[in-house]
Amino acid sequence: MEITITGYDFNRYLKKLYDQTSRTMRFRGKTSEEFPAWEVEARAKVIELLSIDHLPPSVPVMHELDETDGGSYKIQKIAYQTLPELWVPAYLLTPTVGEPPFPTLLCPPGHGGGINQVMNEDGAYHKYPHRFAEAGFVALVPEHISFGERANPDSRYRGCSFDHESLNLLGSTVIGYRMWELQRALDLLESLPQVDNNRIGCAGLSLGGEMTHYLAACDTRIRVACIACFLTSFKGTFLKEPHCTCGYVPKMAHYFEHADLAALIAPRPLMIQVSTQDGSFLAQDAQEAYEELATLYAMLGVKEKVTLDVFEGGHEFDVQPALDWFRRWL
Ligand SMILES: [Zn+2]
Repeated sequence: MEITITGYDFNRYLKKLYDQTSRTMRFRGKTSEEFPAWEVEARAKVIELLSIDHLPPSVPVMHELDETDGGSYKIQKIAYQTLPELWVPAYLLTPTVGEPPFPTLLCPPGHGGGINQVMNEDGAYHKYPHRFAEAGFVALVPEHISFGERANPDSRYRGCSFDHESLNLLGSTVIGYRMWELQRALDLLESLPQVDNNRIGCAGLSLGGEMTHYLAACDTRIRVACIACFLTSFKGTFLKEPHCTCGYVPKMAHYFEHADLAALIAPRPLMIQVSTQDGSFLAQDAQEAYEELATLYAMLGVKEKVTLDVFEGGHEFDVQPALDWFRRWL
């Protein structure tokens, strides 16, 4: 018998595996009455997959390192501890005009450059924390594990990959640690007198969008969210081409797609941003996720609380529509 070898394309197998085994816990209900039970079960599964149940809740204490004048707001460089071994440097922006407490935006940075890239460099972020502070928001920009001021100076460790793989070996995930630290950032914000605890939102670009995605899905203290240049699909991003390993949470796509994780944000307001020139997070994939979410939000009677901002540009944050979104809903 003659055997025809058709190729060695493992990618083709992965696509089939995705088609046959992904999204096993997506919401399949036909009525809004079925949503709350799914929400509880699905959120518990996401938290289980992030593998952070060994981490304790804690309310960090803020240590001020420096203060500068931003005009209508002050910029404090601060640090706080999330575990005895873990210090988080961060920038805290607080309006100096108007009456506190203020609406507040948590600003998780994207991959790589860290908090100084978000705060001080012209580029993809367009210094959005400053723009929000000028508009009367408190803004907190915390450094993630592995990046910026928390990067391992030894290049052999390749930053986030070593941390991600080590945590995998130990039974956890770096995405989980980052989210848990953002929850500690929420604890810190809630302890500050200038923060209106009922008006806390989250917005981020790229990995910052991914962390906004997970945090808003898992922690309902986030009242309004904006996910920029991330929310598309695992199928169209991490499973189509190599991305940094630190974003790959074991088993996540077996249970949930991006749209399923974002469904956990409903019925809270959610803006999805995607640009026309982003080569990795495609507008077409964001459109498909948005349409699924729009159907769900309509079922829940809040169709106006999810929106898709498709803008001309690259892999960047679209500041003004986000500001308008938070002013409207937060
Ligand atoms: Zn990474």
